[in-house]
Amino acid sequence: MALPFSPARGLRSPFLALMLAAAGAACAQPVAAPETGVPGDDGFAWRTLAGLCDLVGGRPAGSPQMAKAVEWAVASFKDAGFDSVWTEPVTVPVWTRGREWARCTAPVAFDLTMLGLGLSDGTGPDGIEAEVMVVASFDELEKRGDEAKGRIVLFNMPWESYGRTVQYRSRGASEAAKHGAVACLIRSVTPNSLATPHTGMMRYADGVPHIPAAALTVEDAGRLARLAERGLKPRVKLYMEARNLGDGTCHNVVADIRGAKWPEQVVLLGAHLDSWDVGTCAHDDGAGCALMMAAARQLMLDGKRPGRTVRVVLYTAEEIGVYGGRAYRDAHRHEGDRHVAALESDSGAFAPRGFSVEGDSLAVLRVREMAAPLAWVGADSVTAGGSGADVHPLAELGVPCLGLRVAGETYFHYHHSPADNLDKVDPVLLARDAAAVAGLARALADDPEPLPRKAPAQPAAH
Ligand SMILES: [Zn+2]
Repeated sequence: MALPFSPARGLRSPFLALMLAAAGAACAQPVAAPETGVPGDDGFAWRTLAGLCDLVGGRPAGSPQMAKAVEWAVASFKDAGFDSVWTEPVTVPVWTRGREWARCTAPVAFDLTMLGLGLSDGTGPDGIEAEVMVVASFDELEKRGDEAKGRIVLFNMPWESYGRTVQYRSRGASEAAKHGAVACLIRSVTPNSLATPHTGMMRYADGVPHIPAAALTVEDAGRLARLAERGLKPRVKLYMEARNLGDGTCHNVVADIRGAKWPEQVVLLGAHLDSWDVGTCAHDDGAGCALMMAAARQLMLDGKRPGRTVRVVLYTAEEIGVYGGRAYRDAHRHEGDRHVAALESDSGAFAPRGFSVEGDSLAVLRVREMAAPLAWVGADSVTAGGSGADVHPLAELGVPCLGLRVAGETYFHYHHSPADNLDKVDPVLLARDAAAVAGLARALADDPEPLPRKAPAQPAAH
């Protein structure tokens, strides 16, 4: 059966058609977008997100899939009618997962559902098998440090908050290696699990052996912990082909809608195009890319061009250390004063709540005024502090940085897991998020008085 196709929603330019042909999807037609009832929404955000998830999929920085995502983004911007579109190179560390598995070998044999952590080394061809030492915290590891030598340390830490719990993913391997552990496992960083493992970046500390690190499902980590509690000394065999391949080149994608009054001044809308390699990364951060593109496009369709230039930046390599965000700052440092605001979305497409403002307290008050008319979409709550990982480097140049705040109670259920797919995104909420961003971007672009800036950070004196 042919998919529904309406010329109005079809391929308007040859760019997307060419890209799809290159992707081996020459016959692809846009999917039907659900009717959302959100004023101004014509399904663009949904179709864009569906295109990214279905035709590109997971897109780790430095991978061929990410190169395809960059091509897809360039074609999509051109197809949507942006005035100018270009890419900017970014040097990124390239990591590949390869095949991987883990198995409890004693006292009960069963397969473990796992994902290696990003930037982890592999185990070597023979894998690693050892008794598991289960701890619930770094404190417990310190107290029982003598027991870690030659063992696989499993951090079965409870979920507290993302910021607190993610420390085990970031630092767990090196903390375990300091005590002589041969590998590190963590309970996945999520408050809720349906047997999904959750990956994410880890870091090796200087001067400590690099041991492989992986996340287990909450369920499997709990079972191993209970075996240990029973005094049964569980053993695990871990096999990971993960490799760090050195530096590669990747790209940020930048697209402008030229301002009508002050074209040299830029309101930046940012999200990250790279992702992990599991699932299709719909919420993180495909949704941010789609809704920022949709919001900017909405300003073009409003019939009144924005006063300032509205620029969408789809960053690369956020997941493995915000390389794209820092590269954009460095490439545009000389024109930092021309950036009047930078707004990021990287918390998934949930119900909009409002915005956070990293900047001058007067800027917070101004944004509060600007967001007040967005009560209709629920986006009128403005809080001080925080923006987003990719725009944050611009704060050093004095740029007022903002983040889209959403009702994120379930974000970490899907985050960095094979479950983060389009079916988890509500098209109505995606459209509402886009409407919230369009509303604030319109105010930021048209208000004659730009937001107050903080003095740029001074380089440290020598
Ligand atoms: Zn993200």
